[in-house]
Amino acid sequence: MIKKKLYCSYINGKWVKSSKTINIINPSNNLSIGELCDLGEKGAKSAVSAASNAFSTWSTETSDFRANILKKWYDLIIKNKNELAEIITLETGKPLSESLAEVIYGSSFIEWFAEQSKRIKGNILSSNDNDKKMLILKQPIGVVSAITPWNFPVAMVTRKASAAIAAGCTVVLKPSELTPISCLKIAELSKEAGLPKGVLNIVTGMPKPIGKILSTHKSVKKITFTGSTEVGKYLMKNASETVKSISMELGVNAPFIVFGDCDVDRAIEGLVSAKFRNAGQTCISANRVFVQKNIFRPFHTKLKIRLEKLKVGDGFKSSDIGPLISEKAVIKVEKNIDDAIKKGAQLYLGGKRHMAGKLFFQPTILLDVQSNMNVFSEENFGPIIPIIKFDSDEEVINIANQTQYGLAAYFYTPNASRIWKMTKSLDYGMFGINTGKISTYLNPFGGLKESGIGREGSEEGLEPFLEKKFVSWDTANT
Ligand code: ADP
Repeated sequence: MIKKKLYCSYINGKWVKSSKTINIINPSNNLSIGELCDLGEKGAKSAVSAASNAFSTWSTETSDFRANILKKWYDLIIKNKNELAEIITLETGKPLSESLAEVIYGSSFIEWFAEQSKRIKGNILSSNDNDKKMLILKQPIGVVSAITPWNFPVAMVTRKASAAIAAGCTVVLKPSELTPISCLKIAELSKEAGLPKGVLNIVTGMPKPIGKILSTHKSVKKITFTGSTEVGKYLMKNASETVKSISMELGVNAPFIVFGDCDVDRAIEGLVSAKFRNAGQTCISANRVFVQKNIFRPFHTKLKIRLEKLKVGDGFKSSDIGPLISEKAVIKVEKNIDDAIKKGAQLYLGGKRHMAGKLFFQPTILLDVQSNMNVFSEENFGPIIPIIKFDSDEEVINIANQTQYGLAAYFYTPNASRIWKMTKSLDYGMFGINTGKISTYLNPFGGLKESGIGREGSEEGLEPFLEKKFVSWDTANT
C-alpha cells in the first residue's frame, strides 16, 4: 500500500519542494493520503524555462531515439501497473479493476506514439513551376503546456504528454491538484526510462497561478487541456494574446439512444458500461438516455433490476461504483435531481447519498425527463440516468442535438439504414453503435461545438504537435 508522504513537483529531472502544500484526500474515506507541493507562478516559470532549454536538444533527436525511450517508458508502466492502479483508486476512489484498465489504456498511447513517431514525414510536392522544388517540412511546435483533469489521472497525462514528446516537443504538465500522485509516479518512470531532463516537467499546485503562466508565457507554443468549458474558454482567451496553438476537450452531454428494434438486454449492458464507469464522472459518460415508446416500460423495468445489483463502495473492495470526487460534485447531483423532480420528473430508483460514505451516491433513474430540466442540459457527472421517451427518428435527432455540446453519442439498433442516418445527423464527434465503449488509441478523440477543438490519439495524433513549413526553392543556382 502507498505510504502517506510529501509529493514534490518534477522539474528539469529533479524533485522540487515548496513550503506551501495542499492536502490530498482519498474521496472514499475523506482521509489524507499525502501533501502536495504548491509551486505557484515561480515553479511554473522554472518548468517552462527547463522545457525551453531541453527543446533545443530533444527536438533534434532522431525518431528512433525518441521511440526507444518511449517504449522503455511504456514497459516500465506495464511492469508497475498494479502499483499505479492502486494509486489511482486511492486518489480517485474508482474501482481497482477500472484503475487497472485505465493504466492499460493510458500506457497504450505511449506505445502507439512511439510507433507513430517513426512515421512523421513531410512532403515533396509535384511542383507547378519547373524551376522550383516545392516541399513541406514538419517540425515539433515547441514547448507544450498540458493541463489534465482528475477523472483519468493517468490516461489524460499519457495521451497528451506521449504525443507531444514523440513529436519532439517538450512538456510542462499540471495535473489536477486532487489526483497528482499517479501522474508523479508516471514522471518517475519516465526518468527511469531515460527521458532526458526537462523533456517532461510536472508542476503541481493550485490551478490559477500555474494556469496563468502556462497559458500566457511567451515560450509556450501550444496548450492542450481537458476539463470544464469554463476553464477551457479562459485558457483560450489567454492563449490568444500570443496566438498559441490550442487543443481543448471540454464539456459534454452525451445522448444514449435505445431504439425499439434493438436487443434490450445488450443495450442495458452497454448503458451500464457507458454510464457508471468512474461513477458517471467521465467525459463520454451517457448523460441523457432516450428510449423509444414501444420498449419504454420493459427497458426501464429491466434497467432498474440491473442497477439494483450494482455494488456501491470503496474501490478496493470489489465495488462497481466508487465515490464522487468531492462534496461539490455530490451537491451538484443532488441539486439536479431536485430540480428534475420539481419540474415533473419521476424518481424511479435511488436519488440519495449511499450509506457507503459521504461522497457515495445511489444509482439513480429519473423518468419523464424534459428538456427544461438541468439533468437534460447539464453535464451531470454522477450516477444519474435521466430517461426521455421518444417516438420517431426525426424527433430523437432533434432533441439529442439540443445541446451546445457534441463529444460522444451512443445508439442501439440493428437497422443499417438507421445507423447511417443517425451517424450523419447527430452532431457528435464520436459514436458508440451497439456498444458502450469507444475509447482506444485509434480513436481521434474529441468533439464538435463547445465540446472542444482538435483531436487526441489516432493516426493523426502527432499533427497538433507539429508545425508545417512550406519551402519554394528556385533550383537554378543551387
Ligand atoms: P472539473 O470541473 O472537471 O474539475 P476543471 O476545468 O476545474 O474541471 O479542472 C480541470 C483541470 O483544470 C485541473 O487540472 C484543474 O486544476 C485545472 N484548472 C482549474 N481551474 C484552472 C485555471 N483557472 N487555470 C488553469 N487550470 C485550471
